[in-house]
Amino acid sequence: MCWAVRWGWGRWVLAGLGVALTFDDGPSSSTSDLLALLARHGARATFFLTGERAEADPEAVQAIRRAGHQLESHGYTHRHALTLLPWAEWRHLRWHPEPQREGRLYRPPGEATRPSPGC
Ligand SMILES: [Zn+2]
Repeated sequence: MCWAVRWGWGRWVLAGLGVALTFDDGPSSSTSDLLALLARHGARATFFLTGERAEADPEAVQAIRRAGHQLESHGYTHRHALTLLPWAEWRHLRWHPEPQREGRLYRPPGEATRPSPGC
């Protein structure tokens, strides 16, 4: 059973009785437009960022944070953890945009935990 429907680089995910809007692979050149769209509709989202992109564009990360959206990890790189050497995998999994926060989430790149790849 599919629990998510792809839409561009984001997706709508069923979450209880509501809908959670999440975006992967950011920040990117689309982030400011996306933030403006979300603000226009009064919507909140969860952004799963990669460490490499977050470090390359810290202003975009701050813009997401200032807008009140949730920041979570999509890994340091955008590679499947099994393709990384152990020390790189450790860095990949350890990185998080909010390292001090409790209850951090990690969404693995490449849909590594998805049970049905056709979704
Ligand atoms: Zn991704």
